Amino acid sequence: MLKAWTPLSFEFFPPRSDEQQQRFEAAWRELAALKPEYFSVTFGAGGSSLDATHKAVMGLQANSGVPVAPHVSCKVDSREALAGYLDDYAKAGVRRLVLLRGDRQADGAEEGPFCYANELVSFVREHCGDRFSIEVACYPEFHPESASPGAELKYFRRKVDAGATGAITQYFYNADSYFRFIDDCQKAGITIPIRPGILPITNYRQLSRFSEQCGAEIPQWILKRLEAYGEDRESIRAFGLEVVTDLCSRLLRGGAPGLHIYSLNQSDPSLRLIQRLTKD
Ligand code: FAD
Repeated sequence: MLKAWTPLSFEFFPPRSDEQQQRFEAAWRELAALKPEYFSVTFGAGGSSLDATHKAVMGLQANSGVPVAPHVSCKVDSREALAGYLDDYAKAGVRRLVLLRGDRQADGAEEGPFCYANELVSFVREHCGDRFSIEVACYPEFHPESASPGAELKYFRRKVDAGATGAITQYFYNADSYFRFIDDCQKAGITIPIRPGILPITNYRQLSRFSEQCGAEIPQWILKRLEAYGEDRESIRAFGLEVVTDLCSRLLRGGAPGLHIYSLNQSDPSLRLIQRLTKD
């Protein structure tokens, strides 16, 4: 199902120890061989700083041969500090950003100079013009704070109107939720490419934890099987690969404009997935 021209992107997080650094380098080297359209590097997730993201981005941009898209969230110290990072990224040849609000603290307090991602998109457009293409996040199964499907679409559109040129979805395991979301966007006149975010399944506990935090649904038939495998990691990986390969095949057959894979700094699950999709 996967064609040589299917655009791929892989997401990494900035490593925080020597051991993580080694795993990160091994992962990007192997994934670079797939000639992805870009790598992206998260910011703030798990408490990482803008400096850590900047360092990882600069390393990848200089050494990987793959264009790199830094994530930037609303939790920057100030507009001035952000402007400095943006200028630095532009000088280093970065041409794409992924702009996000970032998760709120449990008490809902806002941090940083922007409340919502659309404000961040507007700031970047004001400061940098068209220097960067801008990806934003969207949620086929709805953001946990979303008041209604209509409100979700209204706020997504604000990011597009502010200057986003593409979007990446939260991960999901129900292809219909993606297709329904795309239909709704088309009806609302939103025409930017919306790339599905894909999380390979390798670890039941980790998947449950992530999904609780971000509101992604794990269908019951997947959950029950994963539970039943217990500590049998090999069976979880084999089953997860089957499920995610089917999902990606359906998405690509249905017109998805590429795949954005949450690598979690591991190459193996992504490589196996791409190999399977190439054979399909
Ligand atoms: P927004 O688009 O600002 O939306 C947040 C919520 O507020 C939505 O429910 C929306 O409907 C609502 N809303 C928007 N505008 C308004 C308004 N004016 N009034 C009322 N409600 C409004 N997090 C990180 O910290 N670092 C990362 O690197 C990171 N990378 C990610 C990458 C991808 C592809 C995705 C899908 C998510 C990522 N996240 C990351 C998580 C993201 O920050 C959270 O999901 C966050 O809670 C929402 O971010 P957003 O950009 O979608 O926010």
